[in-house]
Amino acid sequence: MSADTTHEPRRVLPRFPELDTEPFWEATKEHQLRYQFCEQCETVIFYPRAHCTKCTNTDLTWRTSSGEGAIYTYSVIRRSQHPSFMDMVPYVIAWVDLDETFRMLTHIVDVDPDDPESGLTIGARVQVHWIDRGQVSLPAFHLA
Ligand SMILES: [Zn+2]
Repeated sequence: MSADTTHEPRRVLPRFPELDTEPFWEATKEHQLRYQFCEQCETVIFYPRAHCTKCTNTDLTWRTSSGEGAIYTYSVIRRSQHPSFMDMVPYVIAWVDLDETFRMLTHIVDVDPDDPESGLTIGARVQVHWIDRGQVSLPAFHLA
């Protein structure tokens, strides 16, 4: 049985207006995974925020990720008391290193965490997978 996360009924969603992350969420409607870049010191910034994490420059540009990366590490959640996630177990959360050099916490979907042949492993290549939720889409990943 695969961990299908497309049926989570009570998922927490962002509330708008949201000054720092709203452009990120706007782009998700077009299934674009965006991140910020500081032209001043050439630093990649993720998660979205108002200033550069290296030089504090507030004039950041937005770039669109290829949505491709590799699993840095992961964990299988088998029990959850949170209403947004309790119906999803077992599911896989992971830190994914995107090819544009930022790391994000996310879900790995469409994989059976109990199948040793599934390909779920540290270093596995992944591709962004969009979960549409009305006014936004949530970025998750599946094995590439
Ligand atoms: Zn900077």
